Amino acid sequence: MKDLLEELIALQNVELEIFKAEDGLRELPKEVSEIESIITARKKSLDAVDEEIAAYEERKIPLEADMKENQTLLDAADARIKRIKTNKEYLALQREIDLAKKRKSELEEQLLSIMEKMEKKMSDRERIQHSFDSDRIILDEKKEKLTSQMKDLEAILSEYKGKDKNLRKTVDASLLSKYDRIKQSKKGLAVVECFDGVCRGCNMHIPPQLFNELIRGDRMINCPACQRILYVRTEVEE
Ligand SMILES: [Zn+2]
Repeated sequence: MKDLLEELIALQNVELEIFKAEDGLRELPKEVSEIESIITARKKSLDAVDEEIAAYEERKIPLEADMKENQTLLDAADARIKRIKTNKEYLALQREIDLAKKRKSELEEQLLSIMEKMEKKMSDRERIQHSFDSDRIILDEKKEKLTSQMKDLEAILSEYKGKDKNLRKTVDASLLSKYDRIKQSKKGLAVVECFDGVCRGCNMHIPPQLFNELIRGDRMINCPACQRILYVRTEVEE
């Protein structure tokens, strides 16, 4: 009985490793995609700032064209004013010049306000880029670590699946089917230690007579409470 149980325990240990590896391979890709979505979000926020800067750049174009046109008008008026003969002409031109100057200062104000906003956006951009650059190093490292952990788990999984296949051939067939049934119903451990008369699977005491029987090791004992297959460790093992 003891040898049979030992084979079963060895099988269970291998299957627990497989379970852990499979669990890891389910969870790790989620962490990788979380990192990827952080990077994508950062890129998006940079793109958004870039778009805002570009929009300001667009708004500058017509204003600068107006400015140039207005300046041409002013230069022409300056040249004309020297050749003016009558007071009436002079006043008319002076009014034209005043209007153009007023327009010039309006345009200057508008351009200045745009440029101030642009400067603020550019410093925002620099700040975002800077923190992104330093975070990126950490994020890339994390991603690389996760990827290599996944590779390790895949290697473990294929190794242990091979072991599992071989062990399943050696374990007693009826014991194996009992094990599978309990494993299925308990979603985990099917073979557990009974220590000091207590089942380590459900923490219930088993009747003393059953415990004695278990120690004798003549037949397979299931925990009366949780149905798991029980074993005891000999003093040498402990
Ligand atoms: Zn139990």
